[in-house]
Amino acid sequence: MSFTIQGIGVSPGIAIGVARLASHSRIEVAHYVLPQQNVDKETARFDDAIATVRAEMELLRTQIPINAPAELPAFLDMHLMILNDSMLSEVPKQLIRSQHCNAEWALTQQMEQLVAQFEEIEDAYLRERKIDVVQVVERVLKVLLGHPDNLPSTESTLVDCILVAHDLSPADMIGFKRQQFAAFITDVGGSTSHTAILARSLNISSVMALHNAHDLIRDNEIIIVDGEQGVVIVDPDDAELEEYQLRQYQWQIEHQKLKRLTSSRAATLDGIEIELHANIELPGDVAAVKESGATGIGLFRSEFLFMNRVDLPTEDEQFVAYRDVAAAMNGMPVTIRTLDVGADKPLGGLTQHALNPALGRRAIRLCLAESTLFHIQLRALLRASYYGKVKILIPMLSNLVELRQTYAAIERAKASLAAEAVPFDPAVEVGGMIEIPAAALMASAFAERLDFLSIGTNDLIQYTLAIDRADDSVAYLYDPTHPAVLQLIAITLRAGEKAGKPVSVCGEMAGDPKLTRLLIGLGLRRFSMQPASLLSVKQQVLKTHVSNNINMTQKILKASDADKLEGFLARLNL
Ligand code: PEP
Ligand code: MG
Repeated sequence: MSFTIQGIGVSPGIAIGVARLASHSRIEVAHYVLPQQNVDKETARFDDAIATVRAEMELLRTQIPINAPAELPAFLDMHLMILNDSMLSEVPKQLIRSQHCNAEWALTQQMEQLVAQFEEIEDAYLRERKIDVVQVVERVLKVLLGHPDNLPSTESTLVDCILVAHDLSPADMIGFKRQQFAAFITDVGGSTSHTAILARSLNISSVMALHNAHDLIRDNEIIIVDGEQGVVIVDPDDAELEEYQLRQYQWQIEHQKLKRLTSSRAATLDGIEIELHANIELPGDVAAVKESGATGIGLFRSEFLFMNRVDLPTEDEQFVAYRDVAAAMNGMPVTIRTLDVGADKPLGGLTQHALNPALGRRAIRLCLAESTLFHIQLRALLRASYYGKVKILIPMLSNLVELRQTYAAIERAKASLAAEAVPFDPAVEVGGMIEIPAAALMASAFAERLDFLSIGTNDLIQYTLAIDRADDSVAYLYDPTHPAVLQLIAITLRAGEKAGKPVSVCGEMAGDPKLTRLLIGLGLRRFSMQPASLLSVKQQVLKTHVSNNINMTQKILKASDADKLEGFLARLNL
């Protein structure tokens, strides 16, 4: 029987396909009973998997670069210790023998026991070490299962597959860049979580915050995903199928029509030029940037080069990635943000347990504390600046001391390259992200000292409204047009104008066509967004008349009542 589940639409488009359920915790595995004669073979298979993972980890341990952060070897040592502990390497074999179960099942049963014991520990840091147990178990499971991960694959299917998961991490989503799902739906998540941002970058429909979809939907069931309305229809009847096939068709036509705007200049009706740049996560995204007609990259989230691996990318690896993007963009600006890990983008061994990770040691705070790691990245960025128009962007600045320390680190990196006669652009521009309310309030101080500013509205909204951007239980409070948010954006834009420094918005607000006119009205002239949103935003730009909108923009800026503000915004967008 057909039923509908309502969530939050995070990436538009309509998909119709069969459900593929991702394991709840990524380590949920099949359970089967073995005949007595296979038990020894199964324990041997288990031993082999442990030995393989041990060998892999020992090899990695010997390959750590000497200048890697001190935590990395310690992190690998801890994982090796967990792997070698009899609780993990011996007890599952006892379970295989006593229960005649398969090795994967025995291992996950034991893992659950251990996780439960960790959860009883009072000390918060030690309690969180359960994550390390899970990570080690996952490595062994991957070897046992004989494939790189246990998420369902779309390979060899002719029908569209829709991934149904309880939760997906940004690292999972990066993995999906290589797999073709028609849509993603998850029980948790907010529209500006990094997982949602990546879903948009894949340009396929996605609905999040469905709460119990993963429990309600069965594998192979037909489902419809409406990423615009945030609706999922399970087991649709013929009439629903027909209606959504039609809507899907119309959506595709609209999409096709937008493509005609790719090469047109982005200027308002009264001739004001608007720069539309794109956000990327990996060098491979440049193709989508080119296809979108973007005139530059406004945000390259470099942290994704550091994910889905156990070691850190070397200076040369980073240099090649940055250089390739810079060269591929043929002289167009490429703004590369320094490592922004922490909060909903943890990085094993580097990010620490924190009571409140969003307020903890993330982004520039972490880079300044890990000076070698930062030095390596800055050298790679500077080296790449010789091959294109690279700009360096610093995330999460909150005070001028951090900025001074950052400049000192850049100078050190420049001096070391100069000493080795390695070429770089000595005038490489340095910009700062304004994404903490404190930084917005003192934007003029940052504008004076930096070459450009970029407003990270995702974090700015999170910190201004005190809502965790990845927590769907407070997603209803997420409001980009909250008067306080608009004031902070306006302050930053004014500061940039006064100092003669360009300001862009690179958070998700920049890619929302409903906010294009408002942002232009506030003075924004440079947007950076997922390539998939660029043409819809350009369409809005082309229909906007800036001087006709001044009054309505001022009304919006002065409105403190949400209903009134919504009415003004609707009139502005007429
Ligand atoms: C932002 O915070 O708006 C931003 C662009 O950075 P990220 O989403 O990666 O935190
Ligand atoms: Mg941010």
